[in-house]
Amino acid sequence: MDERIVILGAGHAGGSAAIALRDLGFSGEISLIGEETDAPYERPTLSKAFLSGADPEPVWLANDARWRDLNVQLTLGVSGIAIDRESRSVTLSNGSSAPYDRLILATGGRVRRLDTPDHPRIHHLRTTDDARALAKAAKPGARAVIVGGGVIGLETASTLVDLGLTAMVLEAGDRLLGRNIPGEAAGWLASAHARIGVDVRLGRSVRAIEHRANDLKIQLDGGETLEADLMVVGIGIIPCAELAEASGLPTAGGVLVDSSYRSLGDERVFAIGDLAARTWGDEPNPRRMETWAHAQTSARAAALAILGLPAEPEPAPWFWTAQCGHMLQIVGDPGAGDTVIARGDGVRLYVRDDVLVGAVCLDQPRDFGTAKRLIGKALVADRASDPATDLRKAAA
Ligand code: NAP
Repeated sequence: MDERIVILGAGHAGGSAAIALRDLGFSGEISLIGEETDAPYERPTLSKAFLSGADPEPVWLANDARWRDLNVQLTLGVSGIAIDRESRSVTLSNGSSAPYDRLILATGGRVRRLDTPDHPRIHHLRTTDDARALAKAAKPGARAVIVGGGVIGLETASTLVDLGLTAMVLEAGDRLLGRNIPGEAAGWLASAHARIGVDVRLGRSVRAIEHRANDLKIQLDGGETLEADLMVVGIGIIPCAELAEASGLPTAGGVLVDSSYRSLGDERVFAIGDLAARTWGDEPNPRRMETWAHAQTSARAAALAILGLPAEPEPAPWFWTAQCGHMLQIVGDPGAGDTVIARGDGVRLYVRDDVLVGAVCLDQPRDFGTAKRLIGKALVADRASDPATDLRKAAA
């Protein structure tokens, strides 16, 4: 195949797509174009070992020599500003254009911001530059207020406490991690944060921020005021779907794609990673999946489709979060109506009509690995609930 493939967005998904195309034998041109000046890297360490300084380098997808060996043309520090689907070309911010036979959109998302003016003491955490700026400001003894009790907020609070700061987390909802972790497991992490001294406040949101000479004065809805040396805002991301939308591609909170990540509006265009919105299983409504694993699986699925190769079976969605010295791993789709099988203190198995649909494991990597393989299979509850019985033996 001698086509030209342009990948717009050189993050984890975009970089993985370039590597998957070569691994699968694509021999044409690959142009990987990214707004950040860093080569593609994985984001999970940004709120953990890269922020703390334990890992001085981000986790690169490939080093310079490997990108050369792969014959991928990397263009960094440049963004796409328009897509012309008729002439099949992307106009770039450096004045040039990138013609394509196939276009893979991997522009991800940008951080949601509070409705208050920016200030150097107010940090976000999405890129290596964000993490470097926060690490520089994170002096022992400083008071950090973190807005958002999601994965970024809690992982960052944990790392900042390790660095000797005090941390307060303000979450607008009535529980932590409301979007992606069942309530009981979120409670395990809430207890872990209490043990390391993180002050978690639920039902709190920021009304106004006063920038004083040496700190921030934060006014909350409800009248309470706080003082902080720095603030970290982790309240989710907004998909960067504007270019796709302006080019007439169908979007709905992301770029609409089928299960091979092909746009529903143009067979030459694909969207992967955090940007892609699709239906899952028998769910009626498309939604995005913002995980490390999905960056990779969606990149590979798109590469297979572009090369006309058969699709691979889709693994159940999964992710992990590491905080306060604990590793919480989640697989599948635990829902409110599912039967919960408790397996000791740190494993919960979610069963629908006797079939395993999800699992949450705290510091139980072996059970997690088994649960991943058992998703979709019937379980024998009394074997599954006994931590002394190998979970593999719980399959019916
Ligand atoms: P997130 O997981 O969506 O969590 C944001 C949290 O902030 C939610 O609990 C949300 O509550 C809350 N919130 C929203 N507006 C608020 C406000 N004005 N004041 C206080 N709280 C507010 O997003 P994130 O933690 O920012 O993470 C960003 C992205 O990085 C996501 O794509 C995430 O998956 C990814 N990430 C993943 C990992 C991992 O997999 N381990 C780690 C770090 C980051 P409501 O739900 O009630 O709106």
